[in-house]
Amino acid sequence: MLNREQSRGVASVRCNVCGKLTFGASEAVRQRAWVEIDLEALANNVRQVKGILQPETELMAVVKADAYGHGAVRVAQTVLRAGASWLAVATLQEGVELREAGILAPIVILGAINTSSEVQAIAYYDLQPTLCTPQQALIFSETMSVLGESLPVHLKLDTGMSRLGTPWYCATEFAQLVQQLPNLDLASIYSHLATADDSDPTVMKQQQFRFQEAIAQLKAAGIQPPRLHLANSAATLSDRALHYDLVRVGLAIYGLYPGEHLRSILELMPVLQVKARVTQVKTIPPGTGVSYGHKFVSDRPMRLAVVGIGYADGVPRNLSNRLHVLIRGKSISQIGAITMDQLMLDVTSIPDLQPGEVVTLLGKDGNLQITADDWASALGTISWEILCSFKHRLPRVGISQPQEELAIS
Ligand SMILES: *Cc1c(COP(=O)(O)O)cnc(C)c1O
Repeated sequence: MLNREQSRGVASVRCNVCGKLTFGASEAVRQRAWVEIDLEALANNVRQVKGILQPETELMAVVKADAYGHGAVRVAQTVLRAGASWLAVATLQEGVELREAGILAPIVILGAINTSSEVQAIAYYDLQPTLCTPQQALIFSETMSVLGESLPVHLKLDTGMSRLGTPWYCATEFAQLVQQLPNLDLASIYSHLATADDSDPTVMKQQQFRFQEAIAQLKAAGIQPPRLHLANSAATLSDRALHYDLVRVGLAIYGLYPGEHLRSILELMPVLQVKARVTQVKTIPPGTGVSYGHKFVSDRPMRLAVVGIGYADGVPRNLSNRLHVLIRGKSISQIGAITMDQLMLDVTSIPDLQPGEVVTLLGKDGNLQITADDWASALGTISWEILCSFKHRLPRVGISQPQEELAIS
């Protein structure tokens, strides 16, 4: 901790990903615990995904939820340089954040928009909303008519996800309404798949069939949408026939595979690593209880290390006594309950371990690697949720600038 005297002589630095201010010299953001974002891995993943697309198929990088916890602004800048041409967010606020940071690429809001004031903000920030119902179409059109401008809109069909969208068999009526209403420009028609990560394609094929049917009916009614899209990461990796004009890829650009059976398609590299430092090391005798509830009791003399990261940073407490971390390329067991800000390790195998040494919770150290998939399977959840769970208390630190970015700046 900095006292007033020390802090006087120490410059503050801004995290180059999240923009938060931290005190200290250049290494200061790597003080207690942090998230490292490997921008070269991110660019690699974008190029890998682009590599399986037809040249005319566009890549929409899904950067909702602060780019799955990776830091939306820096991720957006990197993926756009690496070959993505569209961005997708979930909320109006997420779109505004990107525009305020000076990002100019087209940005689609995937979530539902229901009020006139949101539509005004969307128009002001040059964002592109999803239109899910005829009722929304009326609100959008009315608001835009007052502003005297037109708004590109993306029509969402429900083909089996049973989340947002108009039923696929009402697509023609819906699109006709949008075309008749003033100040709305049909930019695309899309749908979302419920089971694309499943190795059994039955439901996905049914959704694709419904999407095709809807498009055929639109064509028969003389409506030619400028763009069609259906695929998330899993569909993008599993079948070219699902690519249409544009693919909406989230998880794969962050370097994780949406299903075990899709691993062989591409060489993806995890982008996010979670690291923290050892803050204290001690020896405990046999029979010593460790952490709240004494859920761990030593059965031998043990070297114990305290690490400055806990569940308030996003390390799930349910991994207590089951978590493994990496130090000096070795796998180390976590012991006792994970607490809000700290956790303990059995470091008997590294007798000379010192405070300040780096602990890798997620990521690579030497030949060993721990991925979000490892945590997800231990917890009975999915890697998407693990990536999104790291809190803003952890600064995001960008590492390894992509080559082309260095060349530009
Ligand atoms: C989140 C989302 C995606 C991206 O999904 P991934 O599985 O992460 O690729 C695509 N489309 C929609 C509508 C989404 O909500």
